[in-house]
Amino acid sequence: MASGELLGFRESVDRLFQHAASKMDLPEDLLNKIRVVNSTYTVNFGVKLRGKIQTFTGYRSVHSEHAEPVKGGIRYSLSVNQNEVEALAALMTYKCALVEVPFGGSKGGLCINPREWDEDELEHITRRFAFELIKRDLINPSQNVPAPDMGTGEREMAWIADQYHRMNTTDIDARACVTGKPLEAGGIRGRIEATGRGVQYGIREFFRHVQDKEQAGMKGGLAGKRIIIQGLGNVGYHAGKFLQEEDDCKIVAVIEYDGAIVNDNGIDIETLKAHVTNHGGVTKFPHGKYVKDGSKVLEKECDILIPAALEAVINESNAERIKTKLIVEAANGPVTAIADEILRNNGVVIIPDMFANAGGVTHQISPWKIC
Ligand code: NAD
Repeated sequence: MASGELLGFRESVDRLFQHAASKMDLPEDLLNKIRVVNSTYTVNFGVKLRGKIQTFTGYRSVHSEHAEPVKGGIRYSLSVNQNEVEALAALMTYKCALVEVPFGGSKGGLCINPREWDEDELEHITRRFAFELIKRDLINPSQNVPAPDMGTGEREMAWIADQYHRMNTTDIDARACVTGKPLEAGGIRGRIEATGRGVQYGIREFFRHVQDKEQAGMKGGLAGKRIIIQGLGNVGYHAGKFLQEEDDCKIVAVIEYDGAIVNDNGIDIETLKAHVTNHGGVTKFPHGKYVKDGSKVLEKECDILIPAALEAVINESNAERIKTKLIVEAANGPVTAIADEILRNNGVVIIPDMFANAGGVTHQISPWKIC
């Protein structure tokens, strides 16, 4: 790593793996096999839109097939790259193992800004990407089952499930080729909110453990605790909503891609979410102070910081300035390995992603099928 360069996401996940592995009595060759990604498929495909052929790049990475199907979301973002997809696939393996669901780890991504395309265009692009993955069994109910992730949701999962069904008309399990579908397309109740719900349950558990609370310098119960959330998408919105409505927490700041809203008296999550849906961002939200550089708000003093958007947002460049007592990794990999060391030395407690955001993958387990 050149000086001044931040640790990459894949390297960061590997470093955390090595740290955990150093506490275990397992042979080096086995640990190495567990750590490496089994395979990553890269595809460049064209879709004719707006009068010309648009070329898109997508990935599907399988980290470990020790248990099948392998599970892992499909992300739509311009920042998607091989390194990111592989790191996320590895995290899926470790997460499934930790919460004892019988899946290997996988992840997919498409380099695209979903905000730049309308719904019909996104459907064309999604079906074409799914076609490329399905014909190579990188989407398959018994082998490789995607789910929603950043930039995708129920709608994309329904398109993928339908595409799989069209290409496998006699497969009775066709709809189980993805999880996170709408109810009417074979999804299961509670999946949309499951990851945010899991974040809430993880925090509640933390507050039941006196020793952990003491370590974080925290007193009392969850009620009244001041929370900052980064990312008001599926995970951040549901976590914030449940913590506010059911545990009486105070959401004092929300950070989005276009800036942050700060209000020490508390922000009503439903009102802010409605504003984001109607206006495309938090800018001009009337019930709080707008801060253009949202990343600075990560450094504001609070009791609980919930990064629920991107990876590596807390890294060696800002870790020393983070003033929270507890970080709950609702996103995958929001705290880098080096930042993790700095924060722990400073007494900050971190609830790791592989536990905090496992609600989605755990929810999919039912006695007879995955949905
Ligand atoms: P989402 O697309 O629904 O929401 C992400 C939100 O983050 C969006 O509102 C987006 O505008 C915002 N955002 C984007 N860039 C930002 C920036 N620079 N600063 C602040 N906010 C920004 O995605 P999601 O499904 O909620 O996933 C969020 C994180 O949770 C990801 O790391 C994902 O891998 C992880 N995760 C999701 C699930 C799930 O079930 N959806 C499960 C486990 C982990």
